Amino acid sequence: MGLVHEIDFGTPASTSEKQVTLTVDGKTITVPEGTSIMRASMEAGVEIPKLCATDMVDAFGSCRICLVEIDGRGGTPASCTTPVGEGMVVHTQSERLNAIRRGVMELYVSDHPSGWNETAGTGASEFDKVAAEIGLTEVRYGVEGRNHVAPGNGSLNIDYIARDASNPYFTYDAAQCIVCSRCVRACEEVQGTFALTIEGRGFESRVSAGMHQSFLESECVSCGACVQACPTDALREKSVLQKGMPESSTVTTCAYCGVGCSFKAEMIGEEVIRMVPWKDGKANRGHSCVKGRFAYGYATHKERILNPMIREKISDPWREVTWEEALAHTAKEFRRLQYQYGRGAIGGITSSRCTNEETYLVQKLVRQGFANNNVDTCARVCHSPTGYGLGQTYGTSAGTQDFDSVEHTDVAMIIGANPASAHPVFASRLKKRLRKGAKLIVIDPRRTEMVKSAHIEASHHLALKPGTNVAIVTSLAHVVVTEGLFDEKFIRERCDWSEFQDYAEFVSDPRHSPEEVEKLSGVPAETIRGAARLYATGGNGAIYYGLGVTEHSQGSTTVIAIANLAMLTGNIGRKGVGVNPLRGQNNVQGACDMGSFPHELPGYRHISGDTVRDIYDSLWGVKLDDEPGLRIPNMLDAAVDGTFKGIYIQGEDILQSDPDTKHVSAGLEAMECVVVHDLFLNETANYAHVFLPGSTFLEKDGTFTNAERRINRVRKVMAPKNGLADWEVTQKLAQAMGLKWNYQHPSEIMDEVARTTPSFANVSYDFLDKMGSVQWPCNDKAPEGTPIMHIGGFVRGKGKFIRTEYVATDEKTGPRFPLLLTTGRILSQYNVGAQTRRTENVVWHDEDRLEIHPHDAENRGLRDGDWVRLVSRAGETTLRALVTDRVSPGVVYTTFHHPDTQANVITTDFSDWATNCPEYKVTAVQVGASNGPSEWQEDYEALAKRSRRIEGKMIAAE
Ligand code: SF4
Repeated sequence: MGLVHEIDFGTPASTSEKQVTLTVDGKTITVPEGTSIMRASMEAGVEIPKLCATDMVDAFGSCRICLVEIDGRGGTPASCTTPVGEGMVVHTQSERLNAIRRGVMELYVSDHPSGWNETAGTGASEFDKVAAEIGLTEVRYGVEGRNHVAPGNGSLNIDYIARDASNPYFTYDAAQCIVCSRCVRACEEVQGTFALTIEGRGFESRVSAGMHQSFLESECVSCGACVQACPTDALREKSVLQKGMPESSTVTTCAYCGVGCSFKAEMIGEEVIRMVPWKDGKANRGHSCVKGRFAYGYATHKERILNPMIREKISDPWREVTWEEALAHTAKEFRRLQYQYGRGAIGGITSSRCTNEETYLVQKLVRQGFANNNVDTCARVCHSPTGYGLGQTYGTSAGTQDFDSVEHTDVAMIIGANPASAHPVFASRLKKRLRKGAKLIVIDPRRTEMVKSAHIEASHHLALKPGTNVAIVTSLAHVVVTEGLFDEKFIRERCDWSEFQDYAEFVSDPRHSPEEVEKLSGVPAETIRGAARLYATGGNGAIYYGLGVTEHSQGSTTVIAIANLAMLTGNIGRKGVGVNPLRGQNNVQGACDMGSFPHELPGYRHISGDTVRDIYDSLWGVKLDDEPGLRIPNMLDAAVDGTFKGIYIQGEDILQSDPDTKHVSAGLEAMECVVVHDLFLNETANYAHVFLPGSTFLEKDGTFTNAERRINRVRKVMAPKNGLADWEVTQKLAQAMGLKWNYQHPSEIMDEVARTTPSFANVSYDFLDKMGSVQWPCNDKAPEGTPIMHIGGFVRGKGKFIRTEYVATDEKTGPRFPLLLTTGRILSQYNVGAQTRRTENVVWHDEDRLEIHPHDAENRGLRDGDWVRLVSRAGETTLRALVTDRVSPGVVYTTFHHPDTQANVITTDFSDWATNCPEYKVTAVQVGASNGPSEWQEDYEALAKRSRRIEGKMIAAE
């Protein structure tokens, strides 16, 4: 296949068991009943020309190109919409068919300038390719090709339609449009946004975004599905128009969220021209979102730091040095600190944005080189409660399903997550299932897009007060138990029956009844009852949850409550069900798997286990410390206390991402050697003494593990601009510290992981290349991986029910702080925004806003767009208000993508009782009119400026 669209299918094959045998151009083929002739032909190796059909959307039958003849039947039916029949004899080529196709194509071409412009005959668009394929050499009707565009043409009195370049990444050129509707159908069927429509009739018909709006103004979410579906150049990436068609491609994995979409990075030389979602990608099945598809420009942003830098004091300007000097200096400083303050005075933080191999090396450096276990990762501040809660109840710290499983779900329950913003490709797959009739329950303080959007609406929205998750989920269990809706057979076979009895007695207590829980959660009792009944009796029930569950003082308890609920109803261990944490960052699952926690070696094996330590002792030639090391908050506390002095931070911006910014900055400031290894001078680098430039996902080989436990290959498409991939930097640092590492390629690191970690035993780059991707556990028991976990039995043996007592957070509202702040993400931005803020995505979100209910705004005399001061007991910040009823009265909400507003200045130091995961989702606040930037915002500007000085010159500001 070339680089143009790979469109070769018709109606997807039916799942019917009944088989039908037919012949296509003399070839005999047997396919399931209901398969289209187009697909059957493909499977027989016969390609039928087509224009309106693609493998991504349902058959449409409008272009009249894919016609066939069938013996014994009159006419020339469209092969994409005609199902196969037993004994059918199909002909795809004949003089008559070719004549009809040429005639139809001639009409299309006359309506379209492209066939005869600069792209003619180059095969640049699928349209050109089809014209060439069917032998069209001349057009009798002229090629004006100006239909669908004229301003004021007939009934369409709009003048922007000729060429819409409003979207930063692609254009719509109506002159090139043949109105095949593929873009409209892709928007509806693949993305589920319904932003596009065909307006007008005949020559006036045209694609329209929204209600007479430009693409940018419309509901379009820039997923790129329409661009991918377009067979002409009507919808085309600006990069292709500017730089030409790509010449080569490499399959790799998106470096944004935990969906882990596969893409073809399409290149001219060493320049990425576009990222095209890969249809064989098992997580995304050919779909994408605006971040993975278009927001890769940060890789070449002018602010990227490409040379190592050091400075004595954080008030000094940076000095650019060689890699050798930077690494020798770092190694010397780390050894000095250990000599002076003790072995435990230094530590490291691994990155959920880096590859598994890079993460593995950082924890190895800490354990082998630093000789302690002071290693932690950003999962500390997001999904550490998932690890704890699912580990306790099921025996493994990961989601139970693959994304394909959602196609068998009858009732989906989303708790504390907004996949439409944070996991968009999964959201599209879920929405597709909902449009086919599955039901949805949403538990979230905010009315997210999942509650109600185009063609979907949740059956129940439990708009709970932040901090009451445990009470709500336990109350759902109360209804299931007291109304006898639990799955006794499943529980008797798969769980500990006596623990169930204890749990049933606990949840049956009237204090867990919906009527009692309504008083503290604000959710009407009938809504709780309705949701519980639907989940327990509606067929396959699947739970998807996010940081709205974990980032609470009772985050681990809620995860346990969710696990209990799934066991109670038998919704574990088969397709369509399960408990699925939606992981935030691209490789947060992998970072946890690779032993990034201070108490666990790779594969979640506790550091205190002699047998496990022996494996590494003999391989690494050291005696590992058997005591768990410090977590991130403990490292910062120890730094403030003067006992922790140096840190190596790879690919994380803890100043922006961790709670209680003042405390983080105090900790960093107290250290003597802060080493930041990143793409940009991030906020943490304001306190760094060494800056090691990082490499992007485009510049290295490795693997990411997504929210499904799917290990995907990351493939290098260009040389690292800084000279070294991140794994090479860590290796050189280890060598500078005296370790005898000698990895030649990341595949050797994965081989070491596989040799030492039972759940990865069969994983290798060769195997991944062969399989495309694989979900762990992948070993002799599961040679090709494990799409669905706990089939037939839990990893821990019997599933464990655990009581989930609701304990209200200590973070309470009162007269000083009467509102509750909760935080989240927006579609176009990612995490602390270090990457997405350096792309065109800022057109959709160039500041964090505070959502406030009209009632609360009015009480404070605030209007939409006003500058407001947001204050908690931890700190204050100033940002603009967005007055909306998406939030309930008493609740305010903001995103955390921009460093100049920093929501984490506000969040407190409360954290999950089991894992220290910060309570980001519940902060008591007050909001009022602002009279200027808060004190830290004024200081921030000066601090950031100071950090950008390199011996007199300044690094380009944003
Ligand atoms: Fe896929 Fe997530 Fe990347 Fe979007 S950000 S393309 S959903 S992996």
